[in-house]
Amino acid sequence: MNHPKVLIAGAGGFIGGHLVKYLLSKGVRELRAVDIKPLSEWYQVFPEVDNRVADLRDRDACDAACQAVDHVYNLACDMGGMGFIENNKAACMISVLINTHLLLAARDAGASRYFYASSACVYNAEKQQSSNVTPLKESDAYPALPEDGYGWEKLFSERMCRHFQEDFGLTTRVARFHNVYGPDGTWEGGREKAPAAICRKVLEAVQLGVHSIEIWGDGTQTRSFMYIDDCLHGIDLIMHSDITQPINLGSNELVTINDLVSLVESIANVQLDRRYLLDAPKGVNGRNSDNTLIQSLLGWQPSITLKTGMAATYHWIEQQILDKAKRELSQASP
Ligand code: NAD
Repeated sequence: MNHPKVLIAGAGGFIGGHLVKYLLSKGVRELRAVDIKPLSEWYQVFPEVDNRVADLRDRDACDAACQAVDHVYNLACDMGGMGFIENNKAACMISVLINTHLLLAARDAGASRYFYASSACVYNAEKQQSSNVTPLKESDAYPALPEDGYGWEKLFSERMCRHFQEDFGLTTRVARFHNVYGPDGTWEGGREKAPAAICRKVLEAVQLGVHSIEIWGDGTQTRSFMYIDDCLHGIDLIMHSDITQPINLGSNELVTINDLVSLVESIANVQLDRRYLLDAPKGVNGRNSDNTLIQSLLGWQPSITLKTGMAATYHWIEQQILDKAKRELSQASP
């Protein structure tokens, strides 16, 4: 089978790294992986891939990355969980340079398909005021009132993809991810999202013998969380579909943050006292994905339960903490 030459932008990150692995497993051999981080900081590195370090905010770097490439997946973005995006709005918006320059470079290199990773943060905030939220359907992004900073960049970049298709004939596909989680992603440092942060906090509490956990907000805010394997399958289907509009890619298993903490406690076999930080960034009160469109057009639905996915994530983070402690110990010893 002939596979196109593929570029994955943001391949050193969580979803990008998994996507490289997924495409290799599907037999794609001509893969170029690009990220701004030094290779030593990528979550996953595959030696058989053309791995490059470059800042894709720069147009020349995008031209070099897109050279002789047929399919582009743009997963590169300066982002993180609520703690990061609420305090770094300008940095989030500067990612507009990545998508804009990548689109131009893909068009000029004659690429045939372009995938853009958008987010549920594009949805109108007024439709997410209740924790008992009505699942968000694609049309709920307008009238526009997205998450300040990060969400505006995503909405603008979605729109840019649409107009590159209409005006320049570049086939663009846009998925709106709803919270993706799993192993081989950010779990500490300030950019981690709720699933990883909660796993880490529970593990730290167990290891330190502290019987409490800090929770951002009052814990009643609701979300849905999609395991990485479901996300990869969805990206593949959307990229190769004829769907020209942005489409939801997320789980519709709605849980409160309190539920998520209870789930991790059950995996760890502990019960902790909860300290609620009411001033901490917590995002909208409720967010869920309406999957009517993706189910009817692509037959996609999440297959991995939160319980299974969180157990895998928890055990991966447990191993990271152990590995880190071993490294620190070996550095400390003479
Ligand atoms: P991530 O932070 O793990 O990966 C993003 C990667 O982009 C990082 O490795 C980063 O170094 C790289 N990057 C940043 N600036 C760059 C630049 N100038 N040039 C080259 N590379 C650069 O994040 P992720 O969770 O893998 O997210 C991937 C995409 O999916 C992003 O566009 C993100 O906004 C979107 N998304 C993710 C989620 C989620 O829950 N993880 C939800 C909605 C949308």
